Amino acid sequence: MIQEAVVLKVAVDAPVEGIFDYVLPVDWEGGCAALAGRRVRVPFGASVRLGVMVAADALGEQSPELKAVEAVLDEAPLLDADDLRLGQWLAGYYHAPLGEVLALMLPASLRGGGALCSREVRGWRVLVGAPQEVVGATRQTQVLRKLHAAVDGVSAMDLRGVTAVLRALEQRGWAEPCVMSATLLACGDTLHAVAEVPPSLMLNAEQVAAHEAIAAHMGRFAAFLLHGITGSGKTEVYLAAMTAALLRGAQVLVLVPEIALTPQLVARFAARFKPLGEAAVVVLHSAMTARARELAWQAAQSGRARVVLGTRSAVLTPMPQLGLIVVDEEHDPSYKQQEGWRYHARDVALVRAQQRGVPVVLGSATPSLESLAQVAQGRYQRLRLTERAGGARMPPIELLDVRKRPLQDGFSAPLLAKMSAHLVAGGQVLLFLNRRGFAPALECHACGHVESCHQCSAPMTVHRGRGRLVCHHCGAERAVPRGCSACGSSDLAMPGQGTERIELALRGLFPEFALERIDRDTTRRKGALEDKLARAHSGEARVLLGTQMLAKGHDFPGVTLAVILDADSGLMSSDFRAPERLVQLIVQVAGRAGRAERPGEVVIQTHQPEHPLLQALLHGGFERCAELLMRERELAHLPPFAHLALLRAEAKDAAKAQAFLARCAAFFKDESMEALQVWGPAPAPLERRAGRFRFQLLLVSAQRAPLHRAVQQLGSAQQAWPERRGVKWSLDIDPQEMG
Ligand code: ADP
Ligand code: ZN
Ligand code: ZN
Repeated sequence: MIQEAVVLKVAVDAPVEGIFDYVLPVDWEGGCAALAGRRVRVPFGASVRLGVMVAADALGEQSPELKAVEAVLDEAPLLDADDLRLGQWLAGYYHAPLGEVLALMLPASLRGGGALCSREVRGWRVLVGAPQEVVGATRQTQVLRKLHAAVDGVSAMDLRGVTAVLRALEQRGWAEPCVMSATLLACGDTLHAVAEVPPSLMLNAEQVAAHEAIAAHMGRFAAFLLHGITGSGKTEVYLAAMTAALLRGAQVLVLVPEIALTPQLVARFAARFKPLGEAAVVVLHSAMTARARELAWQAAQSGRARVVLGTRSAVLTPMPQLGLIVVDEEHDPSYKQQEGWRYHARDVALVRAQQRGVPVVLGSATPSLESLAQVAQGRYQRLRLTERAGGARMPPIELLDVRKRPLQDGFSAPLLAKMSAHLVAGGQVLLFLNRRGFAPALECHACGHVESCHQCSAPMTVHRGRGRLVCHHCGAERAVPRGCSACGSSDLAMPGQGTERIELALRGLFPEFALERIDRDTTRRKGALEDKLARAHSGEARVLLGTQMLAKGHDFPGVTLAVILDADSGLMSSDFRAPERLVQLIVQVAGRAGRAERPGEVVIQTHQPEHPLLQALLHGGFERCAELLMRERELAHLPPFAHLALLRAEAKDAAKAQAFLARCAAFFKDESMEALQVWGPAPAPLERRAGRFRFQLLLVSAQRAPLHRAVQQLGSAQQAWPERRGVKWSLDIDPQEMG
């Protein structure tokens, strides 16, 4: 008997490319409408996996081999046609399994096969007037902090074990139980409320021009590069554009590099759009509990949340009424996913905006060369903000030549004098050094041996306070030895400076001024970063020392001197993007100085004051640097003038990793892919990490198509190669880190 059956196309969450056919369970009674976008549990090989139905085709004849899905998990689609289309594009572009891509569009609980949580979630929320801290009551303080951090409340599940504390807070009028979803307003209400959004600042002429350009493109695709110096009021332009989109009934997606580092920004958005209802603005980032993420995701996916503010992965959040995308600090490297399928959130935002036919705004004071190239080609429209909104001026930059000058703990005498002058005059001083720990190496003075990681080809960093040697690549650590592990000599030196050492030096040099060090080591404890940032903002801390964490996005109005302690490592790196990153960083750090009434100053210590890049920065600012770097990239046939894909391979045995890539290289040559240049295989910059040897093969092409064709063909060809055994390999399209 011939049976009519519906064949389901399922993207299975497994590391295998392709879409697989299944049929519905025999006893299925749900009908066949709206199957796409729902999750299913399916038999897959010997296991059972989660999948997402991407289509259902009516088939004349049922092939008897087709297995039935075990269960359809959702009553309605979780992903709509737009989400599936985006997923399909991503899977194709990044050569990733569609099932894995779609799985990442779901919160962890749903990815794991759990049911969509019931709409009623009980929790607790903080009340107006509750303090941040209760002196002498650590537990109350802890719980209060948690409640303060989540405007929409914290679910009871995340507050297990502290019921007594919560009751105490309730009695003092500081917290109350709530039904969390009840705080989410229906989207109809939000439209009336937009009128009550607090009036924005009077935009200046440049801001108005930028806003009008964006607003004129609502409802269709257009890409804007909002290129405005730090403090020029980019955020104000985002807010104006967002209001325009919200008034049209659209949802807005805002991407930021790291939310934990920019609590002020979140507060600003939340405050501006508060009249839309408490849950109109939801936040999505990795430090949230799984439950909180799920709630925020659901609010976005159902359309109740009008503004989604999130980090990298938020770009994949389903938003049925998406009408505008904003990518703040678009040049930031953290937008690139560095494991699994390595998407770039900014690039995904562009594609998503294009597919949906909505405008996208990329903002930065220091745009990536990639985005500047798009402007040059007329694909993005550049909007300029050239003046600081508050009227403050950009601080002058000074190169401090430290050649032949004695350095005291990394400081030259003129620098110390300058710092002292600023501190005495009441200013704050910000020092930037991108190296944590005490010293980057422990070296034997007798035999020259450097203590290195047993697992990686890299020296261990000395963390003196903890008495440990730590590998910053794999995290391995051991006690600082008393003698050299090669010759036993106790004459050990610690060359170079990390933030821990600089802190110690500064405490000795300026004992009368309060200091805050902000890096990953000093902010491990929950709440530590917030506390430190608060002291930096209030002006209580006079000397601010830190790594990138300190350079990103903060607005410290009292800082009058910003110092780059060591610019040289960025000039000498083997990564071709290092000089671009260095300039971006210097300009960002410089942007922290002199934001308010007091004029600022920026000092860069270097052994290479004549370096063309530093000279360009001094005399032509970021623009001139970008031009210079752009010419260099063009001559070297590097992005944005070429497209790259990096094949990485690692194995316990170095020869295996190398042989696999050699076979790949030969394959590309055999296929006579002329448009493609193949570099390598070569050892990765960090040749050994966590006990595995690492090699890489770089593919370069002036056009994208040959590159993608090559990678596609490799995908199927390599399956039969014996060289694959024992080798873990991965593909990085548009790599950002060459390591
Ligand atoms: P950016 O995002 O470019 O760094 P912000 O939007 O944070 O700049 O603005 C910097 C400062 O200038 C903020 O304190 C902001 O309140 C203020 N500001 C922005 N636009 C205006 C304006 N039109 N008039 C007055 N102050 C403004
Ligand atoms: Zn020795
Ligand atoms: Zn290591």
